Amino acid sequence: MDLTALRSHNDRAVLRLVRSGALSRASLAAETGLTPQAISKIVARLMSAGLLEETGAVRDGGRGKPRMSLRLAPGGAYAYGAYVDRDELRVVRLDLTGEVVSASVVPLPPMFTPADVLDALAPLVEAGDEVLGLGIGIAGPLEHRGGVVSPNGLPGWSSVPLKALAEKRLGLPVAVDKDTNAGVLAEAWRRPLQDAALVFVGTGLGVGLLLGGEVYRGARSGAGEFGHTTIQLDGPLCVCGRRGCVEAVHAASTGVEAARVLAAAVTNLVQLLDLDQIVLSGRKVLESPDLYLRAMPDVDVSVTSYGPDLVPVGAGLLVLGELF
Ligand SMILES: [Zn+2]
Repeated sequence: MDLTALRSHNDRAVLRLVRSGALSRASLAAETGLTPQAISKIVARLMSAGLLEETGAVRDGGRGKPRMSLRLAPGGAYAYGAYVDRDELRVVRLDLTGEVVSASVVPLPPMFTPADVLDALAPLVEAGDEVLGLGIGIAGPLEHRGGVVSPNGLPGWSSVPLKALAEKRLGLPVAVDKDTNAGVLAEAWRRPLQDAALVFVGTGLGVGLLLGGEVYRGARSGAGEFGHTTIQLDGPLCVCGRRGCVEAVHAASTGVEAARVLAAAVTNLVQLLDLDQIVLSGRKVLESPDLYLRAMPDVDVSVTSYGPDLVPVGAGLLVLGELF
């Protein structure tokens, strides 16, 4: 699907407003400050691209003609999102509203290679006119713009040009980001978040940071390697090669003690960045959410509402979100 013509600032503003609630052309004009004529043109263009549809007449004011209300056309565009975990691949297909229309999970072999991942992805991702592309979430470190990854915990993966490899194999635009950044994007898609951390405790441990409402990636896309900050000098050896990282100390603990290790580290993070919202996620947390919730510091703490689809949904939003 060629949407280059639709990516103007005003088109995105209209799609963003309609996503926040069905609106008439008149209220779009009022909200954007654009003239009714300009809004009519933009809406016509977005409707002919299949991205907007009319829902029916509404009377907002009581006088004059009823107005046609607009909404996103769910089938107008799709994006795929994938999560390359240390032992499995999860893929979702999102419609234009960000809802999951299909999901699959396949195991990845021990010591899997980039070629194994591409082989697993290929049958799950179908290119097509309405498909905008694929987003991939994977452990850091990685370089976000170029999509070059060297994930901790995946032996043999060093400076892999995952974006370029996947684009060549699948014939689609591909975006790559850290699993945790994808996760925090997904959370911010569902509800307003400003200064928040998505704490992800799965096969690895990390955070996605949202500061001032924007994903914070740092100078070299390295922000959020929270799992590899030291919490115990001379502690257990970590997959990153150092000792006593939060990830390694947490993995060496069980039950309440593991939750307390995570809570101590999260408290440091809240102190450092003055965060007001913490979202817990990842399969370890989903196994015993109450244990982790009880241990956390006194800020607004919740467990993700996406379950295991969090990272793949956020990865898909890396692509879909370009429209908004
Ligand atoms: Zn480490």
